[in-house]
Amino acid sequence: MTRPADADARRAAAPVICYPVDTLPAPDMALYSAARDTLVKTGEVTVPPREARTFSVPAGHFFRINSVQGAQVGDLNLHNAHDLSERFYSGKTRALHGTHITTGERMWSSFPHLRPMATVTHDTLGWYGIDDFGGSVHDVIGTRCDPYTHTLLSDGDHYHHCCHSNLTRSLAGYMGVSLNEAEPLVHDVLNVFMCTGFTRDTGQYFMKASPVRPGDYLEFIAEIDLIGNLSACPGGDCSSEHSSDATACHPLLVEIYAPARSSLTGWTSPVSNSYDRSHGA
Ligand SMILES: [Zn+2]
Repeated sequence: MTRPADADARRAAAPVICYPVDTLPAPDMALYSAARDTLVKTGEVTVPPREARTFSVPAGHFFRINSVQGAQVGDLNLHNAHDLSERFYSGKTRALHGTHITTGERMWSSFPHLRPMATVTHDTLGWYGIDDFGGSVHDVIGTRCDPYTHTLLSDGDHYHHCCHSNLTRSLAGYMGVSLNEAEPLVHDVLNVFMCTGFTRDTGQYFMKASPVRPGDYLEFIAEIDLIGNLSACPGGDCSSEHSSDATACHPLLVEIYAPARSSLTGWTSPVSNSYDRSHGA
């Protein structure tokens, strides 16, 4: 290929943020913070290693994903509890908030709704920031480990405990439907506790040992009635490999909390996006 004479000038063009969030409706973090002080635990679900568990969270309740026993990453799906086709939209969440999310940022739902499903209200790994490799925690860039990609890259080996399969089995059991009915509802995840980035030289997706330790947690408020589906990834802390049983894996604990009713006075569950859907026709 021929390098143009003005190549340096073209490459020197300054980046422009695609979606400045100045006009993005901001969550009332002071209200959420006050509500956190009133939380009473109402339930919990343990997610066994290399398995997934499905749980529900009413709008206005909080849920925490806790590290217990050892460093472990989790792959999280969210659905509207009343319409499972409204689900977490990792790509648009990434476009709005960047490659990783933390306190004050939100998990947005699929079109035509595009509304906050959950807002991060506390992140004990918020101190991590962005490391020297460009890595950070809780990514919305990975998709979920899955048996199709594994089969493709491993000369036909079949592994059945990738997050995609775990999420499919769990959702099917929760809903009482077949695997074939549940599988299309499984979607790209929030990689809870996973430390990832893109290499600067080749632009490849990388993972590294998660900084999470037992006692750490990521906490959300459910903005709408939710069904959550969480897989304890076979990659464990994702320091070496996934899509196998080779790595040490640990459970994850999901806790559900109710705030005092009066603590969310003035708060309302967000409605679907107001675009008129005429699409110029
Ligand atoms: Zn996984």
